[in-house]
Amino acid sequence: MERILVSACLMGRKVRYDGGAKTSSDAWLAGWREEGRLVPFCPEVEGGLPVPRLAAEIEEGAGGSAVLAGTARVLAADGADVTAEFLAGARGALEVARAHGIRMAVLKEGSPSCGALAIYDGTFQGRKAPGQGVTTALLERNGIRVFSEERLPEAAGYLRTLET
Ligand code: SF4
Repeated sequence: MERILVSACLMGRKVRYDGGAKTSSDAWLAGWREEGRLVPFCPEVEGGLPVPRLAAEIEEGAGGSAVLAGTARVLAADGADVTAEFLAGARGALEVARAHGIRMAVLKEGSPSCGALAIYDGTFQGRKAPGQGVTTALLERNGIRVFSEERLPEAAGYLRTLET
């Protein structure tokens, strides 16, 4: 059975920067959870950041690939450099995925770690721009497809192709 890496906050775990969760009530996720497919993971907490923590964004409108390449940092709202923690979390996610033979993930849209299509633009003004988070970029460059929680029918279609 294909396992699926999933953002822990989508599964109700209170790991977000504000101390809350982003619990998804989506039927696809509920079904996969029932089947025992889901492997919850929070890159930021596993990378060593506390709960709660200051919001963080990738600087200057860059994306996760630039962080992996060392050409952009991840900064907390007070200016602290949390790049190392974000990279550690991304590597941790990849290790867990490999340990489970995982080929796909469902991650929380908009996050500087987990975003699949959009992330905040580095200005802390609540503005999003197209781009991927650090964990998403590392997973995808290692052949693991990442879908946001907003695209679960597409994820379900991909799961079918993996299992046929
Ligand atoms: S890093 Fe990912 S799993 Fe952790 S709280 Fe943020 S969006 Fe959720």
